Formats: sequence, structure tokens, C-alpha cells
Amino acid sequence: MVEMDNLAFIRERFSEFYDKNIDRVEVPKSIESREFGFTLFKENVMVRHKGFLKAEDLKEFIKRNVPSNVYYSAAYYSMPEAKMDEKGWIGSDLFFDIDADHIPTECNKEHDVWTCKNCGLKGRGIAPNKCPKCGNESFDERTWPCEICLETARAETMKLTDMLTSDLGFSIKDVKCAFSGHRGYHVQVESDEVLRLDSVARKEIVDYVTGTGVDAIFHGLEVISSGRVRMLTGPGLDDFGWRGRAARGAYDFLLTATARDLISLGLRKNIVEEIIANRDAILESWKTVGPWNIIKGLGLEGWRRIIQRGITLQSAKIDTVVTVDVHRLIRLPGTLHGKTGLLKVSFSASEIEEFDPLKEAVAFKGGEVKVYVEEAPKFRLGDEVFGPFEKQTANLPISAAIFLLSKNAGRVIS
Ligand SMILES: [Zn+2]
Ligand SMILES: [Zn+2]
Repeated sequence: MVEMDNLAFIRERFSEFYDKNIDRVEVPKSIESREFGFTLFKENVMVRHKGFLKAEDLKEFIKRNVPSNVYYSAAYYSMPEAKMDEKGWIGSDLFFDIDADHIPTECNKEHDVWTCKNCGLKGRGIAPNKCPKCGNESFDERTWPCEICLETARAETMKLTDMLTSDLGFSIKDVKCAFSGHRGYHVQVESDEVLRLDSVARKEIVDYVTGTGVDAIFHGLEVISSGRVRMLTGPGLDDFGWRGRAARGAYDFLLTATARDLISLGLRKNIVEEIIANRDAILESWKTVGPWNIIKGLGLEGWRRIIQRGITLQSAKIDTVVTVDVHRLIRLPGTLHGKTGLLKVSFSASEIEEFDPLKEAVAFKGGEVKVYVEEAPKFRLGDEVFGPFEKQTANLPISAAIFLLSKNAGRVIS
């Protein structure tokens, strides 16, 4: 929980922000059919089943109530304010959530901390399922949007948007991206084709983008015999869909694979040595006839495992539950994230490579405030780098102060 004094300070800044910048709030299309939800600073409970007929009503509500988080439904309803089973579901945008929480990075052991809510035991990295000391299952977790985690999330997002446009045929203008304001990205398809898809159909899309069930033996990896000659063949780098993705993933894997990486696939030591000694020849031949018969003793099963690693590399690590849920509430673009004070900022899928989340999402400009910081890793906002901090006071711009206070990592002095 964030301390009361901090909450009052943050709420005051959020209020000023919305007073001046209410038009940054992006009103969703068909606002009258959307359900809205909010958390407020005082009671940290979700107020949902709210509806608005006009953009002005929504903006007025936000200015008056200053929510800590603003959400809306990816779904369209005939009666958004009714109880869940009486809303009259019309359809839903196709929505994907990519969050560093679901992508294990090495750096989380450095910057993320958890505290057992029962016995107070502290640890680093992702919280365990059970406290190793007392067995309790709930934790206070403090996670940070570090540059490495955000880059990892961006890479996953790029794989996803590429599959949506190249393989599934969505127009790039229908694929909207957004930085969530914390540790990840959102991708949303607003198109009539997806509107009526039920959860089962959405699960099929999830399986496609995560490469679930994709296996090289269904994608061109096979033994072909002609007379006495048995030859192996497999997927090409330029093939369409998963066939090409599997090949490109395996190519990328072999480009840098160490002996240990290859042995972890269960390949024999002498085969691994052969692969490493012939690495260049394998990669080069993939551009023409294919590398399938270069290494004696590396047969269908060995190649299948190598390609499987490639499939894992090419799959997009999304939060699968979110996409399947056709009633999901999602953060409204142009509103502030209660855990960071950063904005959810939307942008076009074609801009993703250049997009700098820690610059574009900074909502509070200027100002300076004295903060006591308990503990925080080094972080960047805009062009400025702050910290690391440990039990010290610092004069910080409002954006950095809000960021730390929202994480409950410090308190305002005076
Ligand atoms: Zn404990
Ligand atoms: Zn990180």
C-alpha cells in the first residue's frame, strides 16, 4: 500500500494533469457501447459497469473524480451499465497484452523485490508461489520498468504485429500499439472481421501467435526417398507463415548457438562438434538447397529439436488469458497509470521501432520536489537518468518523484 501522504500528493498532481490535459484522453470509438471501470485513490477498489454517452461526460467524470486508473471494455454492449450477463454483448476488439511480468528477464533479480505479507521475508526477482519461510501465498511486489525489460517486451510486440499483418492479413492501420504506462505494450485490432469472434476463435489466434502446437514435421521437415537414396528436407527461410518463421528462428539460433545450447537439446557431443565446425556452411546452404544433409548423423529428430528452439524464439510471449477474455477491461490510452504516473501512449504499429516509451509517456513536466527514497534502482525518464537510491534524500523533477512515490519507494519531505 502507498502511504496516505503520498497518495494525497500524487492525487493532487493527477488532478492538475487532467485539468490541463483532459484532451489527451483518447475516447474509444462507440463510447456509448463501452463499459468503463476506475480505481480511486482512497479505496483501492475497482468501480466498474459505468457507461458514458458522450466524450464530454467521460472527461468530466475523470476531472471530477481523479481516478488512479481508468479502464474501458474491449467489448461493445447494448447496455454497458447492466450486470455482466445482462449487458448484451455485441462484439469485442481483438486485444493483446505483452508485459515484462510474463517474460522472464535476468535483470528482474536485480530490480524487482517482493515482501511476504505475513512474515515480512524479502527476496529479489519474481515472487515465489509460497513464502519459503512461512508458507503464506500473498506478497507485496515492487517491479520496475527497466530498459532491458521494456526492450524485451518491444521485441515480443514486434513479432506479434508482424504475424498479425504478414500472416493473418490485418491492415497495419487496424493494428494499434500502445505503451501500457508500466512494463509492457498493448496491441489492439479494431476491425469488423474480429468483432464477433468468440473465446474459442480468439484462442486459435493465441495459439498461432504463441506457436503452440507448431512442429517442424508438419512444416516441411521430412525424409524423402527415391530408390535407395533417403534424403532429408525441411522448411525454407522465405516460406510463408510458421514454416518460414520456424526456419528463420532455427537459423538465428544456430547463428550464435554454443555447444552447451546444442547439448541442452539432447544432441550427441560428436554431432554438436560437427555442427559448430560447419556452422557457416549450414547457414549458407539454407539460402539455397537447405542444410539438411550436411551433418552425417543429424537426422530428422535432431533437426526437429533445433527447429523447435527456433519456433520458441519466433513465438510472441503474450499474456494468453487476456486475449481470450471477451469482457476484459483495458487501460484507456491517454490516462495515467497509478503505479508509475506515466501515460498509456498509443502509436501506430509502423512506429514501434523508434518509439521511446520512457520519453513519450512522461506526463509531468518540470517542477522539483524533495523526496526521501527508501530504495530504487537506476531509472530513466525522458533524457534524464536517476538513482540508484538507497535511504537518501534527493531533489527530483515531479515526474521522477511521482514515479517513486507511486511505487511506494519513498516519501515527500516538507
Ligand atoms: Zn512469509
Ligand atoms: Zn529489467
